[in-house]
Amino acid sequence: MITVENLSKQYGAATVVDDVSMQIERNSITVVVGTSGSGKSTLLRMINRLVEPSGGRVLIDGKDTRAEPAHLLRRRIGYVIQGHGLFPHRTVAENIATVPRLLDWDAARIRARVEELLQVFQLEPATYAEAFPHQLSGGQQQRVGVARALAAEPALLLMDEPFGALDPIIRAKAQDDLLDIQCRFGTTIVLVTHDMDEAFRLGDRVAVMSEGRLLQYDPPAALLTRPADPFVARLTGQAERAMRLLSLTTAGEAAVPGSSTGPAVPASATLREALSELLWCGAESVAVLDAEGRPRGRLTLDLILARGRP
Ligand code: ADP
Ligand code: MG
Repeated sequence: MITVENLSKQYGAATVVDDVSMQIERNSITVVVGTSGSGKSTLLRMINRLVEPSGGRVLIDGKDTRAEPAHLLRRRIGYVIQGHGLFPHRTVAENIATVPRLLDWDAARIRARVEELLQVFQLEPATYAEAFPHQLSGGQQQRVGVARALAAEPALLLMDEPFGALDPIIRAKAQDDLLDIQCRFGTTIVLVTHDMDEAFRLGDRVAVMSEGRLLQYDPPAALLTRPADPFVARLTGQAERAMRLLSLTTAGEAAVPGSSTGPAVPASATLREALSELLWCGAESVAVLDAEGRPRGRLTLDLILARGRP
């Protein structure tokens, strides 16, 4: 668990992070949102001490992050930025191996880990291990950036607008991959974004920053139904809030027993997607199918609409 305690950062007379306190649970995804210049990146960088706080402190599992030299701390914390920051003259495998090398892992262990990560990120080792970053697509480079950050099995991964440069389809795929990885490795993730849909899709909890202050820190549904402040309500999008609420529940979670002759959606689809399917097909109900394509229940228009209300 990470404890951020009264954390502040001043540059000259400007307070860019102002007395922020929050608890980040293990194995969770925390998303930090806010307008440009609200202090998101500075907050994130104070967790791994790329920026030294002016006041307050950060504890990881109860231990003050200042108890060890910053460069050693950073080897234990993965960090991913927009634009990936890959070393252009090193191969994909060498890029991924950066931190394990610093940690003096033996060659066989490094090779095995690089191979595992390439598989996880669907980059065929025979094709990609010896390739250079410029030979990869943007989406592939982005995956290598995340693989590199995860190479030394960090318990904590910090990501600063990691998907900002990706087009929408690749971006959705990268978000799905991240959710998979979080399940597989149990990594605690703190991710900065200014994309509210991304925040709602990925966040177990969402922190809303404005002018250096933390306005609200809650699960996505609570931000929508109980915004702490008019700014939070504006940011979460009043016109979108019912749809966003629907996107937080899956068809599988909301389905009731029964069959439907209407269109079918997978149990993993969100209620927002199920509603869209109903509207598109002019149907009154949808069949909900499990991962093997077997009927698992049904959803009616009324059931879905009831879930879009606070
Ligand atoms: P965000 O990531 O939310 O866009 P940042 O944390 O990058 O915001 O920046 C917050 C504010 O702090 C901005 O006004 C920015 O100009 C200022 N700032 C960030 N880094 C520095 C720095 N090294 N020196 C002076 N001001 C800075
Ligand atoms: Mg930033």
